[in-house]
Formats: sequence, structure tokens, C-alpha cells
Amino acid sequence: MQLYNTLTREKEIFAPMDARNVRMYVCGPTVYDFAHLGNARPVVVFDTLYRLLKLHYPKVTYVRNITDVDDKIMAKAKESGEAIDTITTRTTKAYHDDMASLLALPPDIEPRATAHIPHMLALIAKLIEKGHAYAVDGHVLFNVPSMPNYGELSRRSRDELIAGARVEVAPYKKDAADFVLWKPSTADQVGWDSPYGRGRPGWHIECSAMAKEHLGETFDIHGGGLDLIFPHHENEIAQSRCAHDDAPLAKLWMHNGFLTINNDKMSKSLGNFFTVRDLLAIAPGEALRLALLSAHYRQPLDFSEEALKKAKQTLDGWYGALRNTKDIAFDANVAVPENFMAALDDDLNTPQAFAIIHDLVSQLNKTPDTKTKSALLSAANLIGFLTQDAESWMRGSSSDGLSEEQILALITARKDAKAAKNFAEADRIRKELLDAGIVLEDKANDTLWRRV
Ligand code: AMP
Ligand code: ZN
Repeated sequence: MQLYNTLTREKEIFAPMDARNVRMYVCGPTVYDFAHLGNARPVVVFDTLYRLLKLHYPKVTYVRNITDVDDKIMAKAKESGEAIDTITTRTTKAYHDDMASLLALPPDIEPRATAHIPHMLALIAKLIEKGHAYAVDGHVLFNVPSMPNYGELSRRSRDELIAGARVEVAPYKKDAADFVLWKPSTADQVGWDSPYGRGRPGWHIECSAMAKEHLGETFDIHGGGLDLIFPHHENEIAQSRCAHDDAPLAKLWMHNGFLTINNDKMSKSLGNFFTVRDLLAIAPGEALRLALLSAHYRQPLDFSEEALKKAKQTLDGWYGALRNTKDIAFDANVAVPENFMAALDDDLNTPQAFAIIHDLVSQLNKTPDTKTKSALLSAANLIGFLTQDAESWMRGSSSDGLSEEQILALITARKDAKAAKNFAEADRIRKELLDAGIVLEDKANDTLWRRV
């Protein structure tokens, strides 16, 4: 398997540190509001990788954290008058539901930042002791010049590093690029007692502490979106390496490209976002998943409702082929086609994998046999597709429009009209159904239907 490593800017042959247990950490959500489709891209991308790793290795430990202490959460609590816990619990639940709708498997471990404050404080104490951090005015800062090889992941110049850290310009900083490990909380802000005064952790130290606790000092893969390379991942590396005698944090760093809208990054701050929740009301999760994986994960992916519609139509074609061959048996012993595996093993080439699924669907339509059907299903299922019953997929959801009973009643009425040679009435019913978004497909001794 070859994967692109952001650290070396090269595709590398993946060789796990311990083939009996592949370890992967992916930065998870800050839980203060519904996830938008951009936030879902890393989830679906790393879910695909997780599924592939699980196929290749006996055990994979996938850790994805929940950031449940953050200034954005505090601001939201202040604005809404709700308790922080109420917001984070509700948002975490919504996140789980939304990601499950996208057919993403849950990670093996989902650590919460607030449950790891002692681990963060221990890491901070170690960094101070080793001369990489200093406490001042209730803050603890990481001293960037104390690490000679700081910046290897993002390869930024010193000026860019300073510009990137400018949000935290403060008189107490020894160096302009220094970043916060701990910051003070006022009496009305959430905080924990510490040797530096009551306060709360910086975002970067959360991941370093949780990764160390659940995966050890060095693990195989660390992932997240492109925007996390700097400063978040660069700073995670600095903290962890400096605390752990320069042991690398992760061997392989993987980053997904941005989901964009008219070529702008989808983001909360630009306001150009669709929540996964809202999109699930207009399309099945599987169509969203297909849309999210339709481009290679390192490429930008421009989203539109048109693209979502196209993904839904593609799935209609795939499920339609399965419905038309429902009498053909599935043989679980038929292996996933080699070219399909090769595509995925080549740095998760999902567009190529979908092209192979397309070919299998065409082949199944032409020559319906067990071998083709089984190859199609085993390939598609591997990456989270075609896991639903074809008949129910084609019938869609009945949240609006005609109910299933009404549709079946109309189909029966049409059949009766035809039997009585009242073809005008039969056509009228077909048209009535079509106007309601129901397409009929007459088979030898049955009429199939689907929503469009
Ligand atoms: P955040 O909650 O903003 O920290 O984002 C959670 C995850 O979503 C991170 O891995 C981000 O890199 C990723 N992410 C946020 N916006 C986008 C986007 N528009 N496209 C792709 N990934 C994104
Ligand atoms: Zn992180």
C-alpha cells in the first residue's frame, strides 16, 4: 500500500511499526455546532483508509478526539445561556448521528479533551522541565527557538511562522512564534487548577496528550484536513517530540484537501456552508459519501447541489442493477477485484475505484451472473457502498409525497385498468405517479417503482 506523506512530500510504501496493531490518530471536531460538509470530508476519507487498513492488518486502533473545551464553545455558551456540558453533549450526539448517516464507522477510541487535563498538565510540566516551555502571567508558552528543527512539516519560513502565530501576540512572549500551552481563565470561565493558576489548555496540547495516552509516543498515521498542517500539527509535533526525547510523533502525516463552494473553502467563518444535517434532509447519506469521495482526497473538491444530485443518480444506477438481478445469488467467497484493491492501495484513489464499480455495474447489466454481482458487492461494501437493500433504496424515503401504501394502491388500480383494457385510465395513473415523482418499470409479471 502506498500513501502520500505530507512530511516527506512523497508517496511511500506503508510499513506499520507493528503489523499486529496499526495505530492512527485523526483530529476530531470541536463540538459547539452541527458539522458542515467540509468537516465531514476528513471523516469519510479516513474512514475509507480505516476500512482498507482493517482489511490488510489484523488490528487497527483508530483514535479520533473530541475537543470539548475551546473558546468557540465558551462563546456559544455565553451567547445562548446554555451550560457548556449541554452544548458539547448535544453536539457530540449530533456528530455521531451525522457521521453514522455517512456510513463512517466509529473510531475505536474517542477521547474527550476535558477527560485528559491531568495528561496535558503532565506534558506541560515535562516541557518546562526540559527547557522548551515557560510560565508567565498565568500562561505557559512553548518556546519555538528551543526546538532547532521546528517547522519541518509545514516548511514555513520564520516570517510565515510569526505571521501564523500573530493571533497570540503578547508582551509576555519570549519569541514572536511562541504558542500557548495553557492560558488563564477568569472566574466566570471554565478552568482547572494548575501550578500556573486556574486555567485551560491550548488546542494543540490537547491532541499531543490524547495521542500519547492512547497510542504511545510514536504511532503510524496522523491525519486531518489541510488547514491543520500549520499551526496545529506543527505544534503537536513540537510538543510531543520535545517532551519525548525527539521521538517522532507519527511516521506518516496525511491531509485531505478542502471541500469548496465556488472555489472558496467551506467554512463557518465565511458562512458558505451546508450542514450535514441539512443535506441529509435532501439526499441519502450514501449519496453524500459518494460525492465526498468522488475526487481524490488530496485534491480540492467543489461541492454543489448539482454534484449531490449526480451522486444520487449514480447510486440509483448501481442499486437499479442490483434490483434487476435480485434473483442472482451473492457468493461471499468471491474476492474484491484486484484492480479495485490496487486503486485504493495507490494512495486511496477513490475516483479510480468508482470507475471500476461503474464497469462492474455495466457488466452486471449485460451478463448478470453470480461472479460479477459478488465482485461488485464485495468491492462496493468494502468502502461503505451498496450496503442497503436495493428495493428499499429505489423506493427512497417517504417523508414527503405519496406513502408506500398510496403508491401500491395506485399500481394495483393501474393493473386493474389494464386488465379491463382501459388504457387511458392506466396511462392517467402512470402520469399521476410520475407527477408525484414515482417512476414505474413494468417487468414480465410485476411492476417495480422508484422515487426520482
Ligand atoms: P474544525 O472543527 O474546524 O477543527 O475542523 C474539523 C476537521 O474538518 C479538521 O480536520 C479540518 O481540517 C476539517 N475541515 C474543516 N473545513 C474543511 C473543508 N472546507 N474541507 C475539508 N476539510 C475541512
Ligand atoms: Zn489535533
